[in-house]
Amino acid sequence: MIWLLMGAALFILLWISYKGFIKMKDKREASKVIQMSLHRHKPSKEDKQTCSFCRKKSKKLSFYAAENGKVIGVCDVCRPQAERRALPRL
Ligand SMILES: [Zn+2]
Repeated sequence: MIWLLMGAALFILLWISYKGFIKMKDKREASKVIQMSLHRHKPSKEDKQTCSFCRKKSKKLSFYAAENGKVIGVCDVCRPQAERRALPRL
């Protein structure tokens, strides 16, 4: 009977360490993915910024404070939209 209990305990111990190993591996894998995506989204040296409305890149953006408190950059084309929404210009 004692051997059965010890066997069960050993099995549980192995199972827990196996689970921990998998989790650790996952975490390492996840951080690798994050590093890769960070690398991919590395800010380029060009000074063009993306318009918050049309997502097009524009050299000159006007900055407004949006309703949700975020700062948005708006290109010349989309500026009337921001003006219509009466967003305070920064
Ligand atoms: Zn735009």
